[in-house]
Amino acid sequence: METQRIKVIATVGPASDKPEMLKAMIKSGVNIFRFNFSHGNQSYFRSIIKNVRAIDRNLGTKTTMFIDLPGPKFRTGKLENEPFQIKKGHVYRLGPDADIPVDQAILKKLNVHKKILISDGKLELRPIKFSGKYLLARAENDLLLRNEQSINSPSLSYSKRYPTNKDIEGIRFGLKNGIDTFALSFVASAEDISKARRITGKSSNIIAKIERKEAVENFHSILEVSDIIMVARGDLGLNMDIAEVPEIQKKLIYQSNKAGRPVITATQMLESMTSSITPTRAEVDDIFTAIEEGTDAVMLSEETAIGDYPLKSVQMIRHVINKFNYSSTGKRAYTEETLQDSILDAAVELVHKTGIKDIAVVTATGESAFKLSRYDLAVRIFALARSDTVLDKLSFGRGIIGIKYTTVRGEKAIVSYLRKRFKIRDIILISAPRNAKNLQESVKIYT
Ligand code: PGA
Ligand code: MN
Repeated sequence: METQRIKVIATVGPASDKPEMLKAMIKSGVNIFRFNFSHGNQSYFRSIIKNVRAIDRNLGTKTTMFIDLPGPKFRTGKLENEPFQIKKGHVYRLGPDADIPVDQAILKKLNVHKKILISDGKLELRPIKFSGKYLLARAENDLLLRNEQSINSPSLSYSKRYPTNKDIEGIRFGLKNGIDTFALSFVASAEDISKARRITGKSSNIIAKIERKEAVENFHSILEVSDIIMVARGDLGLNMDIAEVPEIQKKLIYQSNKAGRPVITATQMLESMTSSITPTRAEVDDIFTAIEEGTDAVMLSEETAIGDYPLKSVQMIRHVINKFNYSSTGKRAYTEETLQDSILDAAVELVHKTGIKDIAVVTATGESAFKLSRYDLAVRIFALARSDTVLDKLSFGRGIIGIKYTTVRGEKAIVSYLRKRFKIRDIILISAPRNAKNLQESVKIYT
């Protein structure tokens, strides 16, 4: 399969959970599947995981899967009949088993004077009064309401407990089923991440979803303890002034690149394609902008989970990615002075001098590969790692192709393996840049 420089993440849901669709999406360029644990149950996800592994064996691909944990966010409950049509101007009851189901704990916190936003703000409700065990509220617009949608209101603050019981359940489920990558929703601080890490264990990847004001403020310390960053624009747009989101996105991407951490740009990338066969021009521009800013991965949410055109959405995002002219971005300047950086610099200089298009790097933690990736050269980066967890992390990185090191040992074997498998001749090999003793031994050209 040809290099897929920018990685594509697709959220699996009712529109995409059948084996034929999962297979078609992988073939169309999905690298990573996201399982949103706010929806669905364990046996549902267990069978999807099994199916993806079977498809991988069949296609010879390696698709990363991760679990997105709900975190301390409030959601509406399950509807008696999903979906439920909400009509502008009509009055609805909120409460346990009501028209819009919310549990007692949420109901108690809702303030009759504050508007309520449902489903990332797609529905606005104006409370009228409490009546018996319900809160009555008028809909400000139409919405086809689905199960378990987000509910926001100034009177609903996030609970402090992190991770939640549901998060812990999701982590345990993942580990039991061979998933080692977890996205944490609504983290506020580095401490939240460390608390979750105590449950996931050391050998795991944590994706920090930046979607609260506190997370933006604490971004530097969060970045230090996370493996991967997600710019979670959906909730960010509710928790901050929506007009600030583009600049926050740009800064988070820049800082993540600088730290050598892969970064995902998420939410509404092709939102209109949930019900339309073509995207808006603005959406195409948005994908382009994220790539230009340095994103490693782009994510599809409802587009593939519940949309009418899951496969077309994948094909479209890949099409925009493929059209991007990568040689035009060039190196961003990051000045650092470790021997590791000098070695990577030397390899980059060799690329410029020789025009060689393939670099292989042996890496224990993935760090050298990510640091190489941020130069954004028009090359393929083969990252050789031993650990499956590191390989999963590498799958998020721009221009990186992870290769399990135990199957190829020794420099000569690595080179001949890559030549054969990827039909290449000239290659630059960087060995163990983190523990290197000198430059000459660490960077070699094989022609
Ligand atoms: P969600 O996270 O889809 O789980 O809400 C992403 C976002 O908020 O952008
Ligand atoms: Mn979110």
